[in-house]
Amino acid sequence: MESETKAARRVHCVVLAYPAQGHINPLLEFSKRLQHGGISITLVCTRFFCNKLQKLPDSNIAVETISDGFDNGGIDEAESQKINYYDRFREVGTQTLIELIEKLKRTGKPVDCIIYDSFLTWALEVSRKLGLLGVSFLTQNLAVDCIYEHVNKGKLQLPLVKDEIISLPAWLSSLEPWDMPSFLYEYEPGNAVLDLVVGQFSNIEKADWILCNSFYELEIEVADWMRKIWPNLRTIGPTIPYKFLNNNNDKLEDEEDYGFSVFRSSEECTKWLDNQPKQSVAFVSLGTLVSVSEEQMEELAMGLTDSGINFLWVVRESEEAKLPKDFPRKSLKGLVVSWCHQLKVLSHEAIGCFVTHCGWNSTLEALSLGVPTVAMPLWSDQRSNAKIIKDVWKIGVRSEFDEKGVVRREALKKSIWEIMKGERGIEVKSNAMKWKNLAAKAVNKGGSSWNNIEEFMDILSHLKV
Ligand code: UDP
Repeated sequence: MESETKAARRVHCVVLAYPAQGHINPLLEFSKRLQHGGISITLVCTRFFCNKLQKLPDSNIAVETISDGFDNGGIDEAESQKINYYDRFREVGTQTLIELIEKLKRTGKPVDCIIYDSFLTWALEVSRKLGLLGVSFLTQNLAVDCIYEHVNKGKLQLPLVKDEIISLPAWLSSLEPWDMPSFLYEYEPGNAVLDLVVGQFSNIEKADWILCNSFYELEIEVADWMRKIWPNLRTIGPTIPYKFLNNNNDKLEDEEDYGFSVFRSSEECTKWLDNQPKQSVAFVSLGTLVSVSEEQMEELAMGLTDSGINFLWVVRESEEAKLPKDFPRKSLKGLVVSWCHQLKVLSHEAIGCFVTHCGWNSTLEALSLGVPTVAMPLWSDQRSNAKIIKDVWKIGVRSEFDEKGVVRREALKKSIWEIMKGERGIEVKSNAMKWKNLAAKAVNKGGSSWNNIEEFMDILSHLKV
């Protein structure tokens, strides 16, 4: 009787997310996909981050927490105490993850596999210790992974040599130092974030599987190169709900919300967009982490106003005080909100271009929904993504920065006009539509990501449970 119950038990994966919106979104969507395929999922994040999240809509995904050692303030608390957040997270996270997995076992939900954000390499050690499958999930694209892997292996020396073209495989060999992730371009030995992003690859070859939120057709050369060093690497993206990718065909789930947001959603956006002509609006959002100078904020505000193009601009609450005094939050030409449902906005027919900081999720969302981009990269891997957007996928332009690192109002206006009114716009829009179709093809039945996910679920279903 007992063995029958055991045989009937569904395979159970703990999906461990790094505490940031851009990391939890792809893992949440991937979790829903696995759950739909019959895998039982417990999504795990840190206590502080989870407490900030809005309730997950009814998706049957269980949520549990572990501790990073800073349950009252996360990374900001660590910074105020001048403690290395990542070291403490490794120590306390390891301990509390083990406790959680033991608790799940005691309560009749034994865990078979840990799928962990590649930033949290210590989760692989936990999976080994507990005899579980350990799966690393890369939330950046393969090109950026390839760059960090070269640093990890010592094949790309830091600091970078000024003006020297970087030598990496495939099209990456034409990168200039400025196109590299900011931690490499502005190298500081001992930078904890640099150690984190490069450290992702320190034990990755020991992972049972490596999954990446990208799709094969998007990064063929780099994917082929990486599969030679990591044969167990699979692309499974874009992790965007099917209803957005397929204009509603073949729905996997009906949830209205993207789910799991640190921010309040703004219904105002959709209403406002409904009253705008087709492809007439520039959507502006710089993600959930970067903070810009007051000078940059003013240039953005004036550039948008001077462009004469209607705009929808997300300015997070923490950035709002930097807006020029008296800048209208709502006018005939523009709407400023503190948060929006980005996928809904990007898929609205009123949107003509996306002024983006080029975070990987935003880049992939724009590309998968066929929206041309004005790239305004600010930090981390965003410059590399901007380079690919402009020169490889050719789905947008990159705004010019001045010597102070600011995009001036004229430069922003010029970029928006190039996309919305110029010849270039026609070309990038047609490329964006090409990628949109390829993205949908990759995740639909029989596509490259679909097949990779099926293969992965097949492996999971054969785990001895
Ligand atoms: N996002 C959103 N609404 C907003 C701003 C951001 O839904 O107003 C989502 C966006 O769709 C993306 C994520 O938050 O999935 C941001 O991730 P990304 O990698 O683009 O940037 P990061 O915030 O990590 O810099």
